[in-house]
Amino acid sequence: MAVIGWIGLGHMGGPMATHLARAGHEVVGFDVDARMAEQARAGGIRTVTDAATAVRDADAVFTSLPRSEHSRQVLIGDAGQPGVFDRVRAGTLVLDTSTVDVETSRACHEAAAARGIRFVDAPVSGGIAGAHAGTLTFMLGGEADATAEAATLVDPMAGHVFTVGGPTSGIAAKLANNLMLFITLQASSEGARLAEALGLDPAVFHDIATVSSGDSWPLRTWYPVPGVVETSPANRNFDATFTTGLAAKDLSYALAAGDAAGLDLAAGRLAMERFERLIDEGYVDKDCSLVVKYVGLDGRTPGFDPAA
Ligand code: NAD
Repeated sequence: MAVIGWIGLGHMGGPMATHLARAGHEVVGFDVDARMAEQARAGGIRTVTDAATAVRDADAVFTSLPRSEHSRQVLIGDAGQPGVFDRVRAGTLVLDTSTVDVETSRACHEAAAARGIRFVDAPVSGGIAGAHAGTLTFMLGGEADATAEAATLVDPMAGHVFTVGGPTSGIAAKLANNLMLFITLQASSEGARLAEALGLDPAVFHDIATVSSGDSWPLRTWYPVPGVVETSPANRNFDATFTTGLAAKDLSYALAAGDAAGLDLAAGRLAMERFERLIDEGYVDKDCSLVVKYVGLDGRTPGFDPAA
């Protein structure tokens, strides 16, 4: 069993690290937010008060951080402050499970390689529920020996593990997947409201679409009309299962990657514009499926009470 340093014990990182502790690893964790560290302690993580101590004796290090800039700062360091790559032994395996932009992931691979550290971009899909259940999908990118070892290490947290390819291929898969998610979210929002406007029973239309060519993950999981799909945020005033803030972050990274590749991601840009409207209206912490409210010209939608 290994000694594992874990930095970022938030909604994802906390439960993920707990699965590693349950599997018998010694997990030493750090979070800048003492409340998150306290929760992690209940899950069997030994918490410490700085990142340097968390990684000092580690055989492997995981990060689960909010945005690209946090991964850069924690892993590479900044303003003369050393990062994780400066503190661990040469040959140590470091996995970033955060969703970051491709440039950040590339910078981490380069900084790690320059110091003899084995870095793997290891983003996940499956949300907070998947983190608790230990059923996340992992997308691993890096050198073959590092991704092979990473695949074994992440097993207690995973339902599916894909060794995608070389450096940044894991994050590339994650960003392309989420681009499709947010476009199909827009599609299921428009289809749901059109069906309703044309007089269809929402449950009947949902049954038809899920076995027809309009099927998609958001249709089955987030159908944005109350009383049709149990897991839909529409049943709970659009309280978040996937916040608009997180969705906008992921989509902005996908769009930046598209720009860099010289692509026209027009549907993705439309989805982004809708998330930005939600954020401007103060709904950054509401579920991203609230974009359905823009399908109606009055900005209202069944199941959403702005005053509640
Ligand atoms: P979160 O904000 O709950 O957790 C991030 C944690 O990092 C916080 O507890 C924060 O205090 C901590 N942190 C920030 N800066 C730090 C630093 N310098 N040192 C130590 N700790 C620091 O976010 P989350 O929902 O757990 O998401 C984490 C990552 O996983 C993000 O990149 C997100 O995009 C990705 N992700 C999230 C989901 C989801 O459904 N929440 C799904 C897939 C991927």
